[in-house]
Amino acid sequence: MAEEVTKAQSAASGGSETIFSKIIRREIPADIIYEDAECLAFNDIQPQAPIHFLVIPKKPIAQLSKSEETDEKLLGHLLYSARKIAEERKLEKGYRVIINDGPDGAQSVYHLHLHVMGGRQMSWPPG
Ligand code: AMP
Repeated sequence: MAEEVTKAQSAASGGSETIFSKIIRREIPADIIYEDAECLAFNDIQPQAPIHFLVIPKKPIAQLSKSEETDEKLLGHLLYSARKIAEERKLEKGYRVIINDGPDGAQSVYHLHLHVMGGRQMSWPPG
């Protein structure tokens, strides 16, 4: 099993604050590429493609499956922000957007995030 998956399966989902809240508050550094009132985007520290950034809500929703009906507009905003940033990053040939949810989804950080990856040919199915 890949090291990342093993790590993800033992990741805490207990509702405690994650490293991403610290990035939002600028308590730890990150390569921030976009910010507005509702969300933040920064480059992934372990990129899996030439371009790999994360879009996160400022509201600390732990995972997609824990989001609520009142989050519907925010979820759309995250997706549309991903689309705008991908255009700014000139991903004209396409890109992949992924949300890992829970242990089976190999989620390792329990603060909702969209992975946006591009700049190379992706394959399917994912592992
Ligand atoms: P996931 O496995 O979907 O929970 O993805 C978490 C992602 O967060 C991984 O791709 C990590 O490389 C990334 N990550 C973790 N810590 C940081 C950090 N401090 N700055 C940027 N990306 C991070």
